[in-house]
Formats: sequence, structure tokens, C-alpha cells
Amino acid sequence: MALAARLKALGGAALDALLPPACLTCEEPVAEQGGLCPGCFARLSFVTAPMCAVCGVPLPHDAAGEFRAEGLVCAACLAAPPLFRRARAALRYDEGAKALILPFKHRDRTEMARPLARLMARAGAALLREADLLLPVPLHRWRLFGRRHNQAALLARELSRLSGVPHAPLLLRRARRTRPLGDLGAAARAAELEGAFRAPPRAAATLAGKRVLLVDDVLTSGATANACAAALLAAGAASVEVLAAARVPDPRIERAR
Ligand SMILES: [Zn+2]
Ligand SMILES: [Zn+2]
Repeated sequence: MALAARLKALGGAALDALLPPACLTCEEPVAEQGGLCPGCFARLSFVTAPMCAVCGVPLPHDAAGEFRAEGLVCAACLAAPPLFRRARAALRYDEGAKALILPFKHRDRTEMARPLARLMARAGAALLREADLLLPVPLHRWRLFGRRHNQAALLARELSRLSGVPHAPLLLRRARRTRPLGDLGAAARAAELEGAFRAPPRAAATLAGKRVLLVDDVLTSGATANACAAALLAAGAASVEVLAAARVPDPRIERAR
């Protein structure tokens, strides 16, 4: 193990300040603490136009869809419009993004929250401007215990610092555990998540009439965000939008390429 990595493992964040700044993912020297080296930065793929105006999924230039007032809407959103108004993500969830997000999620590299939030603030500038409240997608208590941190809550806190939009981490709860959604089709995902999230009764006064921006680390099918949106709208929120660090590109589109 490199000396820097060994010292970090020993002393944690306090020692970081004494060490020369290193790339967040590969330990190469960088100019500023909390940055990425040019090589790792170049491996990130940002979500750029064209994308679905509703769910934000990156689309090929010749994508099927329909032009609406808000822009090009993908076939999936046309077939089953989500309950959230818009979703956006900074990065495509590929190898480059995984190098940042997996250590953040599973190895407690909480210092990744700030640089990820900076990328999210850029990708979600329009959403942040219209938001009254930032809410993280909640982790079930059982999973929170295993992981120590809810990564979505860390991202929401950093985004709140960057944007000045208040952060309300406890207004949405997981009512029960859910199975991993990976292998399930759209209908099965929706069924699995039915009633999985709930805004506690005391949240209603805070949520009433608010434009909520839901924050998550990775957006996959949007089913979880949709279930959260259902609970928030039922509790009186005016609208729900979604901002994630990364999103899984539509597998059907990726395969067609
Ligand atoms: Zn690097
Ligand atoms: Zn869409």
C-alpha cells in the first residue's frame, strides 16, 4: 500500500489535510484536495443532450419519441408517465462513474460526497433553482445499519450547502424492506415498491405545497424515485423532481447501438 493510503487508513480525514492532495480514485497527485486527476476525469461520461425531457435518459440522436413542449420525451415515459416531473443525473453509470460511486456507497468514502454533489449541481441547476426542499431517497434502517451512512443523504446535504435549498432528511421513510429490483420487470418493480415509502404524518405540514427535489446516488429504472414521488405527492407536495449522481442508461437503447 502506498504511504498516503496507509496514513489515510490510520488517521482518516484529519490526516488528509496534512497529505499532499491525491486523486479521489487513483491516488495520483492533484492540485486540490477532493479532486480527480485528468485521467480519471476523462473516464467520466457526462449525461448530455439528447436526453428524455422527463426521465433524463440519454437518447441516441435518432431516438424514437415525441416532441412535446418540454422537449423530446422517450417511449417509456410516453407509455407510462412517471409521477415525478423531471429526473436528471450528472454521469452515465459506467466504469468511470463506478470508480467514484462504489467506494462512496460500500467503503464509506464519504469525502466523495462533495465532488459528486458539485457535478450534480451543474447537471441539475434548473431543478435546484425551482426546488423548495431537498430530500434524500431513504435507506431502510436495516441497510443503514450495515452501511453506516445513507449516501443519498450525504449528497443532499452537500447539495443544500452548494445551492442554499434546505435539506430535510427525515420527511420520507421506508415503510418496509424491499427486494433488490435488478431482475424485475417494470410491473413487478412497481408492485414490489407499492407502499414501500411513507411520509410520516408530522411531515405533511412541511411538505404541503412544496416543490421537492429528491436526491439519490444512482438512478436505475426510476421505479424507486416514482414510489417516493407517490408518497410525497400523497402527503401534499406540489411536485417532485429527481437528481442523481449517475444514471443507468436505458439497456434497450444501449443494446441497439
Ligand atoms: Zn485519478
Ligand atoms: Zn423518459
